[in-house]
Amino acid sequence: MNRRFAAVAALIIVVALFAALLENYFKNPTVPTFASEYSKDIYLTFDDGPSDKVTPKILDVLKEENVKATFFIVGSQAEKRKDIVKRIYDEGHSVGVHSYSHKYDEVYSSPEKLIDDLEKCNDVICRITGEYANIYRFPGGSFNVKKEFTDSVKKEGYKFVDWNASFRDCELKDATSENLYSAAVSTAADKSRIVMLAHDTSDKLTTVGALKKVIRYFKSRGYNFRKF
Ligand SMILES: [Zn+2]
Repeated sequence: MNRRFAAVAALIIVVALFAALLENYFKNPTVPTFASEYSKDIYLTFDDGPSDKVTPKILDVLKEENVKATFFIVGSQAEKRKDIVKRIYDEGHSVGVHSYSHKYDEVYSSPEKLIDDLEKCNDVICRITGEYANIYRFPGGSFNVKKEFTDSVKKEGYKFVDWNASFRDCELKDATSENLYSAAVSTAADKSRIVMLAHDTSDKLTTVGALKKVIRYFKSRGYNFRKF
């Protein structure tokens, strides 16, 4: 009789312990949820275009791969290539503001000058697409930009976008497409949310050369391609 009682008591303790563990598992916010563990997103972003030579080729690859991206454009370049900006927009990609002049000394001379430059670029975008953009990329990124600049951009209602991975197509000298592909993969390092920096200026044919392989790599790793 005593033995049976002990067995029942032991069973109750085991069940209670298991229930407590289970409850803790579902309550503990550090335990990854199904969504955060399995949802992986990548945002491809292209800066400094449009260019005649490279932007249309990038658009061709994106179309072939059925992937949308975000282009942070330079207003003075866009004015000369309205048809390419229109194509970016018509093919369902996002158009964001990068700069009108892309001259760092002018843009960063004061927050007011930065906003003037930003709005001049956005006017060009609106004349071509019929819509103002609400996303912005600081020339060089916001990493070392003073708070007064980031504050004024936020105050004007823009969301600014940096990056956490890169083709490194501006820094690597004499890089091959294979080098850029390796840079993209290693800087992304399996993050669950990747914002990838690349460039579509006229000297970036190696970026075009790497793009398809980069897209296929992240597709094979289960990433969703998103635009801002
Ligand atoms: Zn730039």
